[in-house]
Amino acid sequence: MDCLAAVFRDIDLPLSIEPIVIDEPGATELLVRIAAVGLCRTDYHVMRGERRVAMKPMVLGHEAAGIVERTGRQVVGINPGDHVVLTFIPGCGVCRWCRQGLHHLCAQGPRITQGPQLDGTYRRRDREGVAVGSFCMIGGFAEYAVVDRASVVVIDKDVPLDLASLVACGVPAGVGAARYRARVKRNDTVLVVGCGGDGMNVIQGAQLCGASQIIAADIVPAKLVWAREFGATDTLEQQGEELTKAVLALTDGIGVNHAFVCIDPPATLLPAFRATAKAGNVVVTALTPDTVSEISIPPLELCVSQKAIMGAVYGFASPRVQIPELLSLYRQGTLKLRELITQTYRLEDINLGYADLQAGKNLRGVVRFDT
Ligand SMILES: [Zn+2]
Ligand SMILES: [Zn+2]
Repeated sequence: MDCLAAVFRDIDLPLSIEPIVIDEPGATELLVRIAAVGLCRTDYHVMRGERRVAMKPMVLGHEAAGIVERTGRQVVGINPGDHVVLTFIPGCGVCRWCRQGLHHLCAQGPRITQGPQLDGTYRRRDREGVAVGSFCMIGGFAEYAVVDRASVVVIDKDVPLDLASLVACGVPAGVGAARYRARVKRNDTVLVVGCGGDGMNVIQGAQLCGASQIIAADIVPAKLVWAREFGATDTLEQQGEELTKAVLALTDGIGVNHAFVCIDPPATLLPAFRATAKAGNVVVTALTPDTVSEISIPPLELCVSQKAIMGAVYGFASPRVQIPELLSLYRQGTLKLRELITQTYRLEDINLGYADLQAGKNLRGVVRFDT
């Protein structure tokens, strides 16, 4: 069948809005009609050549929710009409990590920048018949996606699908970083550097964990206003050494128990590290362009301060566990989702959406297909 897609054709080109041909799902796959897809910065890193993918053309988009249209013959337990959230790391179910329930560490994860389906073949072609890849084995910037069942989590139908798309990436990434990676405890103090999609959800997560002080730092003043609405107790516009000093001033010279690096680690990791208390945690959720190979941390400081620097992808917990959990917190009124969406776009306007993200106008822009 034909469907409209936003196709990544080359670095620094706008996404090409064009019809592609999408094939029937294979035995373990499903055809999903995409209802909403978030404009996450990760796709932008690909468009800028900062996160390399193995092939072009490719349909980007990995923060998607939709409705199952058709299922392959080996798919059980997922049916046409089911509402689903797509996971940007598949859970193959059989690797050593998946067998322990650690789907965010699935052995197939490193393949998400390659382009083909989980089985190594393609389901998308352009008008010239050239194979088109799908980023994260999802390809959510399109009206339809064929995905393996390993990338699918069925959700209850009461949650609007534009809100459901948010729990595909940014919300679990941020909330999970606080809950499952740093394991923020009641009355802990927290610093969040970069109040975008991940950072705002770290703030929400830290608040859920009972943090007593949540310091939000960003260079865009509007984001600091939003940060307070999401639970930040203090906000800072400083960067670099000035940021470290300001955090120390707010914490009796001690530093925070947990610092989260949610934007530009080459510039923010060291100031965040130095704003962290002895024995504290520094969690990196933001991607660094793969053109940057090193970030300096003085090793003596690392040793004597006894701090931990750790990475987190997908909030360091299985999306199969987190997605239903987060939707339940939303229903209880303890997790904000609607407030995260600052602008919606048609697929045709997706490049405007990314320009808005880059201009600091959006917390989360979402492409909706029903408008
Ligand atoms: Zn993302
Ligand atoms: Zn696996």
